[in-house]
Amino acid sequence: MRLQNTNTYNSFINQYSFKSCIKYRQTPEKLSKKTLQLINKVQEYNVYLKEQEGINPIYFVACYMPKALEGIQKGISVFKGLNMTEISFVLAHINEIGVLRGCFNNCAHCYAEGSYPKRETTDYISRMSWKDYKDLTDGIKEINDRLGCITRYTPIPIMLFHDSDCSQVYIKDGRGKIHSWTELAKMMYDATKADVIFSTAGWYKNDKAAQQRMEQYVKEMSEADNLDYLYHFAISANPYHTMHHKAVQLMKEGKYDKAKFIIQQDAERMANVLFTVTPMLKTGKFKFITRAMSNDSKNSEGFSANDLKAIWRHYFKELRKLYENDFRTNQKIIKKREDINLYIDKYRKELYRKGINTEPVVAERLSKIYDKEDSAVAFTKENLFNSPLKAIKSPYCYGIISPNGEFDMTTYFDSYKTPIKLNFENKNKRTAPISPNLNSEPITKEMINDLDSYIDTAYFKTNGEQDIN
Ligand code: SF4
Repeated sequence: MRLQNTNTYNSFINQYSFKSCIKYRQTPEKLSKKTLQLINKVQEYNVYLKEQEGINPIYFVACYMPKALEGIQKGISVFKGLNMTEISFVLAHINEIGVLRGCFNNCAHCYAEGSYPKRETTDYISRMSWKDYKDLTDGIKEINDRLGCITRYTPIPIMLFHDSDCSQVYIKDGRGKIHSWTELAKMMYDATKADVIFSTAGWYKNDKAAQQRMEQYVKEMSEADNLDYLYHFAISANPYHTMHHKAVQLMKEGKYDKAKFIIQQDAERMANVLFTVTPMLKTGKFKFITRAMSNDSKNSEGFSANDLKAIWRHYFKELRKLYENDFRTNQKIIKKREDINLYIDKYRKELYRKGINTEPVVAERLSKIYDKEDSAVAFTKENLFNSPLKAIKSPYCYGIISPNGEFDMTTYFDSYKTPIKLNFENKNKRTAPISPNLNSEPITKEMINDLDSYIDTAYFKTNGEQDIN
């Protein structure tokens, strides 16, 4: 089915007479009669969408509702300057909220090329402000309330990062109060009704602030009655962390003692991470995201599935030492000796539950490090969209919001600038560039505003959730 314009859309939904069941947070008299009529139509349309199978409603929302609804966004500060088509486009695609732009883990396989966050200056920002985050979630909630439906239909969960690790995701407000990842995740869930992913490749043992923060996050999540907002709590299990990567390089140079030292430091780092997050094992939301090169692939030395198994044996050996020490001393985690084997077994089972993922890693960064003939590189090139129009038409093109309000898009293979900028207090500052493979051709305002003229909705039939690992 293809709905060409608003008139067709209106006549189409007029065939249905669904009763409005939405309560407005704002008193209806503040909205014009015309807007209220339109809202009713949207509500009817929303019911229709729920009844359809195999149609990805994201494109209906992005293409067909907005023009009829122009004006409904009035007074919502974060969307100031954007028309309803642009707002719908943002809301329908929103996926990665770059609360912090930058990462201390610097993994060799990072699809988003996370590098150390730059120091903030008067015209450069790395972390979203509390006001902007609050304005964003309040704005989404408000527009959903006015529309009477949730504008984000994609089943993909939201991430509060693009190129950073959740152990570093928090916001400090003007009064110095820290707003934790847990608080931010609940706010986002409340606004979008999308589950939020927690993912970490760990933090450094000597980073006392991160340690404290993670102990708090784990306590809040493991003791909560309801973790509805949490999609999963994941530990990234791979051989690409900057410490292991460095050790492999040193070994190749014959510097074995240095390499051994780093490997030991890395094992102690991850053992501390596993020790700290142990209470998450009981939540039913814990998982490992495993990645490595297949044992027979080119350049896999140090990064193969077999190497990953050896790395994790080492991690568990160090974890056992921490558990035993805890049992003898504080009994913070280990209250009974048998818990030591119980937890290590749970970790081990979870690690190998789905087997190690040896699909080629599609990171631009990895492709720069390895042999150009490597399968990982070929896979990346084959999958580049290399066209903003092609990307925008794909159901697998996701929106990223940066701390300065810039809205960019990625297919996970390549990325595109868009002209959309949210009305953030830090909108005039610069922030880190978007990766991977930023295309020189941006997505334009015309492309976004003309979506309904070239989108064939039949193209967007989707068969449920993608594997987002
Ligand atoms: S993969 Fe994750 S943890 Fe590693 S550098 Fe990228 S964002 Fe950071």
